[in-house]
Amino acid sequence: MANETMEKLDVRLLIDGQWLDDAEGGHLPIVDPASEEVAGRVAVVSSANLQYAVEAAQRGFAAWRAMVPFERSIVLRRAAALVRERGDAIGAVLTREQGKPLAQSRHEVAGSADVIDWFAEEGKRCFGQVIPGRTVDTHTLTRLEPVGPVAAFSPWNFPVSQAVKKLAAALAAGCSIILKGPREAPAACAELVRCFVDAGLPAGAIGLLFGHSAEIAEYLVAHPAIRYVTLTGSVSVGKTLASLAGMHMKPLTLELGGHAPVIVCKDADLDLAVSELVKMKFLNAGQVCLSPTRFLVEGPVYEEFVARFAERARNLRVDSGVADTVDMGPVASLRQVEVTQTFVDDAVKCGARLECGGKRLERRGYFYPPTVLSNVPTTARAMNEEPFGPIALVRQFDSREEALAEANRLPFGLASYVFTRSVATEAFLTERLEAGMVAVNRLFSSNIEAPFGGVKDSGYGTEGGTQAIRNFLVEKMVTRFVG
Ligand code: NAD
Repeated sequence: MANETMEKLDVRLLIDGQWLDDAEGGHLPIVDPASEEVAGRVAVVSSANLQYAVEAAQRGFAAWRAMVPFERSIVLRRAAALVRERGDAIGAVLTREQGKPLAQSRHEVAGSADVIDWFAEEGKRCFGQVIPGRTVDTHTLTRLEPVGPVAAFSPWNFPVSQAVKKLAAALAAGCSIILKGPREAPAACAELVRCFVDAGLPAGAIGLLFGHSAEIAEYLVAHPAIRYVTLTGSVSVGKTLASLAGMHMKPLTLELGGHAPVIVCKDADLDLAVSELVKMKFLNAGQVCLSPTRFLVEGPVYEEFVARFAERARNLRVDSGVADTVDMGPVASLRQVEVTQTFVDDAVKCGARLECGGKRLERRGYFYPPTVLSNVPTTARAMNEEPFGPIALVRQFDSREEALAEANRLPFGLASYVFTRSVATEAFLTERLEAGMVAVNRLFSSNIEAPFGGVKDSGYGTEGGTQAIRNFLVEKMVTRFVG
């Protein structure tokens, strides 16, 4: 592997092309959630280095935008190749610091290489227009130009795949970017960034910081050199950042939390629904923004669905992410264990029935079992706040209007799922669900060529599809006399 941090998880900051510690900022520990042991340390940026990071990003922007899109694309494709080449090692680090099973980590890293390739191509296709003038001796044209240095904030649950969407799109557009990575799981994110550096990006075109989020955000967002802000994270942090960005008139993209409803109709293929939903619910121990959370099941199939879903959940193998046979690893931190337990206890107190799980496993590590709660009242906290853990909340419904009302009840609007064999029911629900994404009789697979984003409190803007690169471009109009 290309560096020694893979052995002892010694994660540094990247400023002006240099990997460095910050004497004033110090370090924070990285904890392996499967063993609760300290697996390494991550450098924390001090305020003096924030200024240095922005100055470097300005120089990096000047150098990177001076390259033509075709040349930039070559560098980005080289980065994608390095991500593939180092995929197994990066995946191992990801499992160690975040807990997910090794197969899921490798999948995340491999998918990230595809994201870079895709944006490397998109960057070559950002054309302006030539618009006929009102007289024969004038015409008008538009140019798409990089918006400028970007400040990006990414979460710990997918430390590679969430960061890469921001990095690849911004760089493909010709911007420089400073990423504030997740300090809870920083090492795989740093290895991703290293691939870009080793591919030949000019110094300062990419920067990586860790540390005190609010302080970093307040500095970067307010700085006049920073021209765009992008965050993937929770709704509450999204609102804070949106206010800050608004105050400084910075455009931004927000990919925020969700609370995905799943509507299982009486005519659904139950085999398909149970097997797909168990996979999706317990992926990454439920710490997924698209995770199905509120299971709404039609009366005639309710009991059967609950029994079969709980049976499958109970039999999932929970172990360290590096174990040979593992379906679900630990949750990422002690905080996640505690929050999950609070949600479960509260739901039971409100009258829900515990079908399986419900109590932290008695072993070392942050292991919380797959948990299924049925008959969950809408007053339970978990039915209102994003659970972000391995808990499935099941309720019965009697009409599709009732299911729809419950699905749309919350301020979240990210993902939703429908299982039905009826084209009419599918059309009724997909048209009316207040969500950025709807999956019918299947799960989401994160294809970068499709739009990805939420509505309502789940955020705005997209990080996928042909529009995603446009976030980082501004349109300039040039009108000229040609006579
Ligand atoms: P978080 O909101 O706590 O943190 C997200 C990022 O923002 C981190 O880098 C964090 O350090 C930083 N941050 C924290 N406080 C900040 C502040 N005041 N100003 C600026 N940045 C700040 O979220 P998390 O716990 O890391 O991740 C989980 C959340 O992310 C969940 O809500 C999940 O649904 C959401 N998420 C959304 C998507 C999506 O695409 N919509 C994808 C993955 C995760």
